[in-house]
Amino acid sequence: MPDAQETVLEINLNALKDNFEYLKSRIPKETRFLAVVKAFAYGHDAIKTAQFLEQLGVDYFAVAYTSEGLALRKAGIKTPILVLHPQVVNFSNLIEGCLEPSLYNANVLRQFIAVAEQKSLHNYPIHVKFNTGLNRLGFWENDVDLVLNELSKTKAVQVKSIFSHLAASEDLDEKSFSEQQIASFKKTANAMIEGLGFKPILHMCNTSGLLNFPQAHFDMVRSGIGLFGFGNSKKENKNLKPIASLKSVISQIHQIENGESVGYNRAYSAKGFTQTATIPIGHADGIGRQYGNGKGFVTIGGKKAPIIGNVCMDMIMVDITDVACKEGDEVIIFDRDNTAENFAGTANTISYELLTAISPRVKRIYIGDSF
Ligand SMILES: *Cc1c(COP(=O)(O)O)cnc(C)c1O
Repeated sequence: MPDAQETVLEINLNALKDNFEYLKSRIPKETRFLAVVKAFAYGHDAIKTAQFLEQLGVDYFAVAYTSEGLALRKAGIKTPILVLHPQVVNFSNLIEGCLEPSLYNANVLRQFIAVAEQKSLHNYPIHVKFNTGLNRLGFWENDVDLVLNELSKTKAVQVKSIFSHLAASEDLDEKSFSEQQIASFKKTANAMIEGLGFKPILHMCNTSGLLNFPQAHFDMVRSGIGLFGFGNSKKENKNLKPIASLKSVISQIHQIENGESVGYNRAYSAKGFTQTATIPIGHADGIGRQYGNGKGFVTIGGKKAPIIGNVCMDMIMVDITDVACKEGDEVIIFDRDNTAENFAGTANTISYELLTAISPRVKRIYIGDSF
């Protein structure tokens, strides 16, 4: 791989395959695997990632919004796609794209059934979401009769799965809360199964749930961040491989004297002779202002160079006083060694936010496989 000549997100598909296989090794053979590819597959390009995972044999995909699912269909993805948070206004498009909605309250359930009946559908797959403690989306435990009643009145839809979502699956201090959620889900799922007279797919675990709560694997797991290399714990991070490296290049080097400032609002002031490098990546690329003023750092020639002053829209400036380097040299923002999780941690955020914020104008490069 030649040095980066511009800002690129380099994505290693071999590592994606290894992560998929590792996560699969942690669930029983018969348990289905749903890959969560919402938000541009956490910044890694949903189409490319989904095409690769489809070849590896994932059972299901999930996205957040209808438009994300339609983009996958347009790219030829044939695997079933669950839309986690569809909006009523998109129900008709969702059906046209053979996407499967998560329905989470009486209003969206009734409105979806109305659209399905209007289109004369029969047994269109739907997924019923129950809230067990996250208090974000979902029917409550005592809504089971309401759901069953609505379903008993129509042949247009059929329950393909019943699911819930853990609130703190990565936090073992909250283990008893997660166990309570699992118990609540079991109770609700059993009541649904009894009322329906058949057993849909049951699922509850995200990546950390998959790793920490084997008793909650049910019939399927839903993994996003794990596929991209993060297990939300030191122990599991060792078993997974971050698949993306964010790289850039030094555009210009400046020598400045004591008291001279760098960047907008003169936020950085040199405490003596200082060398700075300007790098073509800024908040419009996903490196937010919270990384500025000494919080975040990049790596040049194996040495740390802190971001100084305010992050600009298209550039950052870093302190290279103690770094031997020249214009045109490669700059690593994050990679397998200094991971996205570490970089995100410097500004008190998480890998999920950093990865999903990397904007479309950052070129994605794929290594490790070809289509
Ligand atoms: C995003 C999401 C997931 C994936 O979570 P990870 O922690 O990335 O594995 C699973 N289920 C639901 C409902 C989600 O919204």
